Amino acid sequence: MKGLVDTHAHLGDARFSEDREQVLDRAAAAGVFRVVEIADAPADWAAAVALSRARPASVRCSLGLHPYYADQFAPALLAELERKVLLPEVVGVGEIGLDYVKAETGAETQRPAFERLLAFCRDSGKPAVIHCRGAYPDLRAVLGRLFQGPPAGRRFWGVVHCFSGDVRDALYCRDLGFCLGVDGPVTYPKNDGLREALRQAGPDCLVLETDSPYLPPQTLRGKRNEPANLPEIARRLAEVCRLAPEELAAKTTANARALFGLPKDTAP
Ligand SMILES: [Zn+2]
Ligand SMILES: [Zn+2]
Repeated sequence: MKGLVDTHAHLGDARFSEDREQVLDRAAAAGVFRVVEIADAPADWAAAVALSRARPASVRCSLGLHPYYADQFAPALLAELERKVLLPEVVGVGEIGLDYVKAETGAETQRPAFERLLAFCRDSGKPAVIHCRGAYPDLRAVLGRLFQGPPAGRRFWGVVHCFSGDVRDALYCRDLGFCLGVDGPVTYPKNDGLREALRQAGPDCLVLETDSPYLPPQTLRGKRNEPANLPEIARRLAEVCRLAPEELAAKTTANARALFGLPKDTAP
């Protein structure tokens, strides 16, 4: 496949410290011409910006505060983020969000931090990269408080990455102007409910991601994931959406460009 964008990877992870350059070269060889690097802890922000500067034709980054670290939220941190998102390498804010499954930080700490960060995205025009695990009712409530519908003058407020909700969640997020991030789990045999939700949401609100090094697609389960594995996810999603793989690639790449304001000049 050609012309794919991996909208969500964590190449700053220590599991890539030995071969980060080769990982990006393999991605390009597999048709993944752009990667959005996600730095979800303030300690990782500088490295993500540096990686984007080192590979300006292929890497951009998003800086955020994962719900795991919501207890680090403070006005000074928001001020630092407000400065950093002005850098040309930074195309989004996230991960931010809610995680009621794995986070040790409680919901009462996560919710206000998430709302402040999401309001910043809304007011600044920076797209939000939202993480939501086991918290879809609360996510719908937060989105419903902050957004009345899609943004004026562009298509998306942000993305609900690694979407794992049901049909109702998918349509709710889509209709408010969010796209849904699709990764390895769409290839897992038992995930018929997820596939149905994505099919009903439709390809005009879907973007592809690997969430590397996490969530490898079915044929690589148990291994380290990397952006070069994106075509397996794209092919499965094309079947779900009943599109030719090339058509799915073109649509999801156009969505990714609209989401992050990515330039067209480096298209294959
Ligand atoms: Zn996440
Ligand atoms: Zn992630």
